[in-house]
Amino acid sequence: MVEIAPTGLFVGCPHCSQELKINRKYIGQRVQCKFCSADFRLDPAHPSVVDADVYSKCTHCDQELRFAKKYIGVRVACRFCGGKLHILPPEQ
Ligand SMILES: [Zn+2]
Ligand SMILES: [Zn+2]
Repeated sequence: MVEIAPTGLFVGCPHCSQELKINRKYIGQRVQCKFCSADFRLDPAHPSVVDADVYSKCTHCDQELRFAKKYIGVRVACRFCGGKLHILPPEQ
């Protein structure tokens, strides 16, 4: 069992609704949409951030995986290599 922490998350732009892939380090900061150039704050308490899908690399095969929020804290298998992963909650 390998534990991985989410690298970032997928958030819909509040202006154009396009989905943006954003590194976790930008949570709490202002970010700019690459589609419509609007800038907005990535509010950690906002439902679009709290309930966001996350991404992380599989430590077994190095493929990037996307997980819905319900898989955080749960043991899953990589869809590429079948390796077992445990996705840590972001606080850790
Ligand atoms: Zn936008
Ligand atoms: Zn894998």
